Amino acid sequence: MRVANKVTLITGGAHGMGAAMASLFAREGASVVVADVLEKEGRELAAALAQSGARAEFLPLDVSREPDWREVMAALMARHGRLDVLVNNAGVSGALPDRMGVEDFDRIMAVNARGTFLGLKYGVEAMRQGGGGSIVNISSISGLVGQAFVHMGYNGAKAAIHVMSKAAAVQFGREGIRVNSVHPGYMPPMRTSVTSADPALRERLMASIPLGRSGRPEEVASAVLFLASDEASYITGAELAVDGGFLAG
Ligand code: NAD
Repeated sequence: MRVANKVTLITGGAHGMGAAMASLFAREGASVVVADVLEKEGRELAAALAQSGARAEFLPLDVSREPDWREVMAALMARHGRLDVLVNNAGVSGALPDRMGVEDFDRIMAVNARGTFLGLKYGVEAMRQGGGGSIVNISSISGLVGQAFVHMGYNGAKAAIHVMSKAAAVQFGREGIRVNSVHPGYMPPMRTSVTSADPALRERLMASIPLGRSGRPEEVASAVLFLASDEASYITGAELAVDGGFLAG
């Protein structure tokens, strides 16, 4: 068991890659808290994991709302007394038809950048009480390069996640808190993706990936598990691309 008994909070854990992370961490012995705006899916996933013998629960959370973070952390600390791992994974897509929408910019920033900042703020506060922990922030290849079909607010938010991870690694390392970012490449489209869900575009995108295929949520979950676990005890402030070689091209 690679994360045995680690109290692990996964934001956006009800669907997609977050759900794959929740399943993998549960299998590897963690006590998993799935937090999401999708209540029904989140509760069902936590119940299914608990049914299979794992420790899992759901807490409602909109990562862009500070009062939600206070409530989630109060509930988590009351129940577990500590937080060992936080995965700031919740996000909305920038694959939108209008790449210059101002409201879209604000929404993407609120969820992806502000949501991760709030996660860092409240995650660090909770981890201090237990003497340390590991935070994994889900950025993207979009945090490192531009893409023709992506709203630049998404690139900006994912770049903010990338550098905030380094800032947090520098600021909180002495307190035993490690912070790293994971940068998935082309994965199954997000619930909120519009343009990147188009099969013709996806086929063109595949040509730019050395491994020649899109990634699987489990492949990102494995990278997150490694960084969260004690196997990565001397790794902080690093970025790990899980992109089939896209950024190498
Ligand atoms: P997804 O849409 O399947 O899952 C995102 C999850 O976040 C959902 O469960 C959703 O309900 C939740 N969420 C959205 N807004 C929220 C909010 N305000 N508060 C709490 N939860 C919220 O997408 P995914 O592909 O699993 O994406 C997971 C992460 O990976 C995101 O941060 C995304 O930006 C990033 N990413 C995705 C891809 C891709 O191609 N799918 C590539 C690189 C990075």
